[in-house]
Amino acid sequence: MKNKVLYALLSAVVVMGFAGCEQSSKRSSSGSLAKEEMINVYYLAGKLEMTVSQISDRKVIFTGGGNTVGIYPKEDYVYLNDKYFGTLGKTKTIDGMLHVRSSLLAQIKTEITGSTPFQIRPQVAPIPTPRPVETPWTGGGGKTIVVDAGHGGKDPGAISPNGFYEKTVNLDVALAITDLLRKQGFRVVMTRSSDVFIELEERANIGTRNNAAMFVSIHADSCATSSINGFSVYVARQPDWQEIKLADCINTQMTKTGIQSRGRKEADYRVLKLSKCPAVLIEMGYLSNYWEANQLKDKAMQQKIATAIAGGIVNYFGGK
Ligand SMILES: [Zn+2]
Repeated sequence: MKNKVLYALLSAVVVMGFAGCEQSSKRSSSGSLAKEEMINVYYLAGKLEMTVSQISDRKVIFTGGGNTVGIYPKEDYVYLNDKYFGTLGKTKTIDGMLHVRSSLLAQIKTEITGSTPFQIRPQVAPIPTPRPVETPWTGGGGKTIVVDAGHGGKDPGAISPNGFYEKTVNLDVALAITDLLRKQGFRVVMTRSSDVFIELEERANIGTRNNAAMFVSIHADSCATSSINGFSVYVARQPDWQEIKLADCINTQMTKTGIQSRGRKEADYRVLKLSKCPAVLIEMGYLSNYWEANQLKDKAMQQKIATAIAGGIVNYFGGK
């Protein structure tokens, strides 16, 4: 009994060993037949000394040396010089690039030249798709931006439950935006750079007098419901596409501050209505919300907001 078990165990080990050997030898001797190499169409064209002249989901055309190869993946056929050549066979799309069986190369090459090509080396990675050329941001080019810190002087704007004034945060953020935009090559005109009162009409007139390319007004919100929070980017009613684009650029960047977006809104604020250039008004958050008021008071957050607004303006002008 004991011996029988031992024998059975031993033979199992021997069989397993054999099976292992057999498998590995099979893989090495007939691997290329069992699983054919796939090559991308650009590689195939290159090996045929041709160039891809057309490429779409429906067909790929190579031309070169007076020959034309047409590959039609949906119909599963290959054309050579406008004549049916054969079936395409297995295809695969890797990283958006059509791959075909590697044996196609030898078949087409033989037909064209009457000789078989060199052995195909395994192709590791598909040819990367070229990246679009990035145009470097050349700066603001002296374009005039009016940065308008809302309220000021006798007009404090909204007041937070802990006694923080809107006019203060507006000015601090406006000063930081001005600093950032000047570094990007813009000419920045502030409607106020200290705690003074300026009429709304005069704010808009400053933009007109300076032939401004853009008017950006900085505010903080308030409402009776203390739970309401988030920033909003306002444009005048019936905005033009520039204002929509500008508001969306700023909105996208502002979401990076962590303050919740309430989106782009339309309202006929006087500074927006009276401005002769694209104008937006940003309500950075709610001072009536205890948590957000503390955020807006925070210097690091003010810098984040300024970076976001300046970044949105730069993006609007095509910069990164
Ligand atoms: Zn305000």
